[in-house]
Amino acid sequence: MVSRVIPVDPFDLVIFGGTGDLARRKILPALYRRFRDGQMPDEARIIGAARADLDAGGYRTEIRAAFDEFLHEDERDDRMEAFLERLDYLPIDAMGDGGWPDLKEKMRDGAIQAFYFSVGPSLFGALAERLHSHGIARDDARIVVEKPFGRDLASAKELNATLAEHFDETQIYRIDHYLGKETVQNLMAVRFGNVLFEPLWNAQYVDHVQITVAEEVSVEGRGAYYDKSGAMRDMVQNHLMQLLCLTAMEPPSKFDPDAVRDEKLKVIRALDPVDPGDIVRGQYDGALGASYLDHAEDPASRTESYIAMKLHISNWRWKGTPFYLRTGKRLKARKSEIVVTFKETPHSIFDADAGSRANVLSIRLQPDEGMDLRVTIKEPGPGGMRLVDVPLDMTFAEALGPDAAHVPDAYERLIMDVIRGNQTLFMRGDEVEAAWAWTDPIIDGWQSRGDRPVTYDAGSSGPEEALMLLHRDGRRWRELS
Ligand code: NAD
Repeated sequence: MVSRVIPVDPFDLVIFGGTGDLARRKILPALYRRFRDGQMPDEARIIGAARADLDAGGYRTEIRAAFDEFLHEDERDDRMEAFLERLDYLPIDAMGDGGWPDLKEKMRDGAIQAFYFSVGPSLFGALAERLHSHGIARDDARIVVEKPFGRDLASAKELNATLAEHFDETQIYRIDHYLGKETVQNLMAVRFGNVLFEPLWNAQYVDHVQITVAEEVSVEGRGAYYDKSGAMRDMVQNHLMQLLCLTAMEPPSKFDPDAVRDEKLKVIRALDPVDPGDIVRGQYDGALGASYLDHAEDPASRTESYIAMKLHISNWRWKGTPFYLRTGKRLKARKSEIVVTFKETPHSIFDADAGSRANVLSIRLQPDEGMDLRVTIKEPGPGGMRLVDVPLDMTFAEALGPDAAHVPDAYERLIMDVIRGNQTLFMRGDEVEAAWAWTDPIIDGWQSRGDRPVTYDAGSSGPEEALMLLHRDGRRWRELS
């Protein structure tokens, strides 16, 4: 099966922060891959803008070095130079007025306008204001902003209000790269494109859901920054919340941006406040070298590098089905997945020792994006009716042939969606605010009670207390490795 690459319309994409880590590691490699696949038309132009005093040649040299570091060797072929030729650069300080007239000069009337704010949120207001005061941004321009989108409800509201002074909500693309993952969209295809799953997708048939985003890396090198945020702000409020919404939402009436985002918002609003006893916060110890407290540089830090929690959604579909979320640094393995465990059959007609188990649908985001559904069948052979669990593997590369082996990276898809003007996979302002409105009281509670995280062994599956969170409900976390 050959996937079709449909070129997007000509565009001018300006990357503010074009010399930064995100631009070098993610945005420009993603654009190059789309160029290589023929999705970028000849008239497309990419303009880096940052404070560094470079010209276009100097910028290309910087990005060539980044590509040497971040692209796979096979990708660095003769097309790389052709792509680099398309890069332009302007030195612009977001807080100053130099360079803006030159940028205006470079913008073309017929091309789609997109401005990627790959800079800290404190610069969003200055950029938005100058794009207008210098008469650069048109009414159909798009802006792309990255996390962190606020650190609480008040700051998120302030950011939304600042952007809204200059741009309409339909122009604002808030990136959560988890939403750009192939499997996350496949979750929607599986749920809403088949008759099999949706009738079972509720508290009557689903025993529980586990959402895991586990990382092996520590916070070394960015501990001082991370320590101001922690797992709740850095991962749960955005990425895990988005995965929860897509898993739990009602079917939208159509696959259109507002229909999908309306349904996600309803999930966040239906979340029950979380009982403090249903949350476990942890910090990794020094079992494998430095501990979280060493990396955070604050020996008294109470910021969590791990969190596990049990959530309830108060609506007709999910009342009574717990959703367990966990995420952490310095764990045993890097693994992100959504696992839906169905209930066991109401009555077994087989002998007690035949061994039937519940169906489990796993949606793997990383590594090896894919899905499998475990079903019970008869163990082959003459040994009587013995049952065995087998996975129905829905790994794309095998089922869809060699073209599916290159699954586009989330940034590739999301940037092309910006150019196409499709906001379905981007967070709307009210969604972000609702997620903070749910998060804030939890964090405030820890602070007012003076709660301290428990410790867990670096390289383990997380704190014992997190195992107990499920154990006391008669359940177990999925293995991390
Ligand atoms: P960085 O510090 O590596 O780069 C910042 C960029 O902004 C540089 O190009 C710098 O020249 C430019 N810049 C700084 N001040 C400026 C000013 N006054 N005017 C114009 N340009 C200015 O940061 P980064 O890691 O690339 O992150 C950029 C944003 O993306 C941040 O908000 C970050 O939180 C977010 N983000 C980054 C990552 C990542 O993987 N790096 C992931 C998610 C979100």
